[in-house]
Amino acid sequence: MPITLARRGSRVKVVGAKVGPAGRASRSGQQVGPAGRERRFRLWRSITSFLRETDTIPAGLSLETILNRFVGGGLVVLASALSLVGSASGIELSGTVDALAARDVKARLGFETGMVRPMELARMQELRRRLAVMSAKAATEGLVRIVHMDGDVAIDPVANSLDVVVRQTVSFLEDGTNSFSLLSFLPFLAIEHPDGSPIEWTSGDFQGYYMAKVSPATIAAKGDRMDLVLRLSGVPDCSIQGAISVNLCAWGDVNYLAGDVFLPGGMARDFATADLRLTLPAGLSVAATGVTVSVSPVQDGKEIHRIVQDFPTDSRSFGIASYVQAIIPRGVDPIRTFTMGSDSRVQAGVPEVLGDMKSVLDYYSERIGAFLFPKMDACQVTNDAGAAFGWPALLWIPDGMFRHGGSQRTALFAHELGHQWFPDMIQNNDAFAAWLSEGFAEYLSTEYMGTVEGPDYPTAIYNYYGDLYRYFVSDVSDYGLSSVASASVSDSQVYQLVTYYKGAIVCHVIEKYVGTDVWNQALKAMHADLAGKEAYYDTDGLKAYLEAASGKDLTDLFTSWVQKKGYPIYTVDVTRQTKESGGLQATVRIRQTPSNKYNSFKMPVQLGLVTEKGEIVHEVMVDKADQSFAFDLDSRLARVRFDPARNLLKRVGPGLSGDMDLSGEVDGIDLVYVAWSLGGSLFGNAQNFQSSADFDANAIVDEVDLSYVTDAFGKTSNGGVP
Ligand SMILES: [Zn+2]
Repeated sequence: MPITLARRGSRVKVVGAKVGPAGRASRSGQQVGPAGRERRFRLWRSITSFLRETDTIPAGLSLETILNRFVGGGLVVLASALSLVGSASGIELSGTVDALAARDVKARLGFETGMVRPMELARMQELRRRLAVMSAKAATEGLVRIVHMDGDVAIDPVANSLDVVVRQTVSFLEDGTNSFSLLSFLPFLAIEHPDGSPIEWTSGDFQGYYMAKVSPATIAAKGDRMDLVLRLSGVPDCSIQGAISVNLCAWGDVNYLAGDVFLPGGMARDFATADLRLTLPAGLSVAATGVTVSVSPVQDGKEIHRIVQDFPTDSRSFGIASYVQAIIPRGVDPIRTFTMGSDSRVQAGVPEVLGDMKSVLDYYSERIGAFLFPKMDACQVTNDAGAAFGWPALLWIPDGMFRHGGSQRTALFAHELGHQWFPDMIQNNDAFAAWLSEGFAEYLSTEYMGTVEGPDYPTAIYNYYGDLYRYFVSDVSDYGLSSVASASVSDSQVYQLVTYYKGAIVCHVIEKYVGTDVWNQALKAMHADLAGKEAYYDTDGLKAYLEAASGKDLTDLFTSWVQKKGYPIYTVDVTRQTKESGGLQATVRIRQTPSNKYNSFKMPVQLGLVTEKGEIVHEVMVDKADQSFAFDLDSRLARVRFDPARNLLKRVGPGLSGDMDLSGEVDGIDLVYVAWSLGGSLFGNAQNFQSSADFDANAIVDEVDLSYVTDAFGKTSNGGVP
């Protein structure tokens, strides 16, 4: 199913209605007197047009202020009031940065929808992990890992065929193994010992791929190795259909091939070096995970490219075309692009791409640990790849993404380069946690973009991703980031919204929970222990690193955010009191329910108490279903900002219907907020969508939402006394 986030206006209500909280059905049936409605509508129309003109967002204004100044003095007075108060008390509405970030993400999604098929949904490892999970193992069948391959590969780009003779070194991962399976896109012709003696093997078909079952005469122990010579030949079927819909090879002006297509792999994660000699028509250049050490002419107008990869990886890939190369140094390591010289739009962007790649590698190296591969290449592939791919030391970037300049391209490269760390260097072997690769890559990309676009950018992106996840992943289709269900998601949009986007947000949630220094320290420790080694972590391993760095037990945190599904829904009531001593006080009552009934959340939450004199942020632990917190105030409370830094993925709503700004009263500021958001939708190009104004949770702020404010206008949470 293609991702159609950018053009789906007619579907929004259906999806939103499905995920909307029960009991918040439309209130449009309630009547407001005609005269009152007319007056209110005139009011909000004026405010809306005023806000659209000035693009200035008010915050912290009291009911009296806004109504008196607006009604009494008109727009000029209101404007001056807003400009005085607005910036001082913290802007809560979607500001310019939010709008830009959302537009950027929407453009990326729309772009990838329109020009390429779903964005980078799968890598071969994920397919293989799924196969490994599904494959029923015989009693003596064991897992093997390919650790070296040495081969001759004749590639015919016209006939689209390959002839392969490869000697592979197999490492046994389990004791007592006398049978193992290898997977390929090409039919197996022969498998034998290196001395030419026969070995027992059978070949079968597994969901469209070729599988060879090899049965050595002797029983192997864990750690044993054996060499095999394999011959394969044929025309590979390049497409993977189903939830993961990408091409792992294609022929044409640009030929691209995943190594898995013609180099058989084990059912566990391979970790192999390679020495390959590719025979090709003369005049082509090869971009590869390994390094091209020589190109030698042979007969019939052909050349042999020797590609040596002396650093082990779990996968490798190749791009073959009449590429032009561009190169910049990064220390001793080159950064290089392989692009089509005839493609002027791609060529125009090459210098910026090279600079971006260097800058991204520098940032990740500093934040996580050194880049260990001896070079980093990016090659242009055609849009039918269906995705960009972050192969070790070589990115595949489809034409359209390469041509597309600006921050979208930078963010895409940053995501793919994030894969150099997660999972290419710091490998996980968790078959049920693709977010450890995809969520982390998207998180790293977002963090890097924050260094380019400003620190508000990541906050805005996580907020926007959170909106998409909360609105468009129903509880039924949702799944835990690390869960058995995560390995068999059939809806690619749900997969992207959860594994990629919620995965990125949960990185952010954990970072804020343990603190950025601790988070970075844990990632650095993982890099020190695991990067570039035949060593793996899983979800529990990540938790252990974070617990070691923080000194905290993170079981509840991981259970809530990583293993289980959903997010917390907070309902907030704000009341003001005057103490007997005369001092002012506010009580904030927080009720929480999980979006999924089997989950629960115990999270520290920051509350910004905005008074006439300014804002003080308090942190409270919200770990029960219903809690109240009292705060002394220096002056009259204007409103409460719940999670002002936006550290959490959550939904927040007022206990007092219509009290969008959590002031304890339904007043002019609520009217302004909803009026400003009116017409805003989570989709389309409106910049004014505010989920907190979307009371009925249908992804559009419309007149039904407005009625929540107008119907309750003047009500307060303590019975009418403002
Ligand atoms: Zn990715």
